[in-house]
Amino acid sequence: MNARVIDGKAIAAELRGQVAAGVAELKQRHGLTPGLAVVLVGGDPASQVYVTNKKKMTVEVGMRSFDYQLPADTTREALLAKVAELNADPGVHGILVQLPLPRKEDEALVIEAIDPAKDVDGFHPFNAGRLMTGQGGLIPCTPLGCLILLKRTLGDLSGKHAVVIGRSNIVGKPVAQLLLAESCTVTICHSRSRDIEALVRQGDIVVAAVGIPEMVKAGWIKPGATIIDVGINRIEKEGKTRLVGDAAYEEVSKIAGAITPVPGGVGPMTIACLLRNTLQAACRQHAVTCNVIAA
Ligand code: NDP
Repeated sequence: MNARVIDGKAIAAELRGQVAAGVAELKQRHGLTPGLAVVLVGGDPASQVYVTNKKKMTVEVGMRSFDYQLPADTTREALLAKVAELNADPGVHGILVQLPLPRKEDEALVIEAIDPAKDVDGFHPFNAGRLMTGQGGLIPCTPLGCLILLKRTLGDLSGKHAVVIGRSNIVGKPVAQLLLAESCTVTICHSRSRDIEALVRQGDIVVAAVGIPEMVKAGWIKPGATIIDVGINRIEKEGKTRLVGDAAYEEVSKIAGAITPVPGGVGPMTIACLLRNTLQAACRQHAVTCNVIAA
């Protein structure tokens, strides 16, 4: 039996529609238009495509989009000055500095310089701490997207064993925190985990966020499990470049109960959740209630 395909594209479109309705309500009731500022340093082609998509969708849901393309040799001081300027700008409710930065060592400093109330990526230690303590800050977009897909697929997640592969600050750790908050039993695997296949096989839910093409095989999967494949990997196959996930889709989908495809699974959810977070941030900054979509 083939797994049910979790249609991230459709669910993301629905979420963007809900955000657009929230934005329209905010404008009508409070004369307020949420604004999202995206700062891109350098000309990384993948980041440029991502930033262009963000801009398009920000405008589509009725928000203001502010774009800053800075040269790769922008100094740390100049970048921090740009962040300070956006922190102080009342028309900007969300700030996103596109990662990776050309100088990786600046990343933590720049993330910490963003006002936590405008940190729509949810990477600031303040928001990471609120997530860990269950205090409801801004939640990182890709992990939030994973949670929405899981809840749409399975409903109540309580008591399920979730195995997260990967422990990065932007995906693995926050996904694990979100699942713990949903009362899952959570196992986190990483590059030093022993007998990872046996660990993954325990999962009713498997979230793969590794960055190794097709690493998770059919034999690793408990029959009927739900697989959320975060990986986006470019591979050459039969002379063509293809995108594949961290799970071997063809074989895993014969064992799993439900699975996200790559592309068209988690990817579209990330931008939709960014827009959701921007709406949430705008509402909070102006102390107004609005229908920010719960996970
Ligand atoms: P990182 O490289 O930051 O983290 C990868 C994690 O995988 C690390 O924790 C690492 O362990 C672990 N890992 C590496 N090798 C193995 C192994 N052999 N067995 C088990 N674990 C291993 O990646 P990200 O978290 O940033 O991204 C993961 C993937 O998700 C990438 O493909 C990325 O492109 C994709 N992604 C997709 C997004 C989307 O919108 N869909 C958004 C963000 C990322 P250790 O800590 O021990 O080194």
